[in-house]
Amino acid sequence: MSEGAQQDLFGSTVFDDESSTAAAPSKEIVYQRNARARSYRLTLRKDGTAVATIPNRGSQRGAEKFVAQHQSWLERERIRQAKRPRAAEIWVIGTHVLWRGEMTEIRIATTGERPQVCLASDVFRVPGFDGDLRATLEAHFARHGKIELPARTWELAALTGVDVKMVSVRNQRTRWGSCSVNGTISLNWRLVQTPDLVRDYIIYHELMHLREMNHSERFWARVEEVYPNWREAEKWLKRNGSLLGL
Ligand SMILES: [Zn+2]
Repeated sequence: MSEGAQQDLFGSTVFDDESSTAAAPSKEIVYQRNARARSYRLTLRKDGTAVATIPNRGSQRGAEKFVAQHQSWLERERIRQAKRPRAAEIWVIGTHVLWRGEMTEIRIATTGERPQVCLASDVFRVPGFDGDLRATLEAHFARHGKIELPARTWELAALTGVDVKMVSVRNQRTRWGSCSVNGTISLNWRLVQTPDLVRDYIIYHELMHLREMNHSERFWARVEEVYPNWREAEKWLKRNGSLLGL
């Protein structure tokens, strides 16, 4: 996962050092000193901000030179980012949204006193058919996530024999999952929108972090062992993660 843009979607809270604060979109370069960095680094955040890291012994001037040298990479990366698929901002009848791994049309299920819409075979109550349905539907998705994701996690924990203490489902804006040394796994409710393949991968990924709290070769070997499909899931995430704002 070390392609140019450097987005680790799965960093555990324990060793994750990437700040998740959202900055305003900007074409400017933000220079950040990082005592632990060993070299100059340029990354493009999802919000469009380019961040230049100044290592311990580096200087502002050195960083500016580094940025100048990597200008064409940055431009390419910006183009690549602009091309990523995005979800519709406003959801109305007829909008296609990602649901259980498929772009699915929001359709009217029943009218009258209890207006409902359906997405494939799932039916959801809505206040009405006018206006933006996004908040209502996302709340339904989150509810599904809170029920389904812990159930699946306990299942896979039992299969792999990993000792999980707690599973929490959260509204994480910047990651799919995380875990902590005390045995808690946190998952993003949006995983109910992804294919089962991806959902299971994220769960296995976090389970294996409870054995190996890093992204070392040993960690990936463990993932490979329990979930050989992980590369396919990674590919899906890379291509479609932006549909879910990640
Ligand atoms: Zn990880």
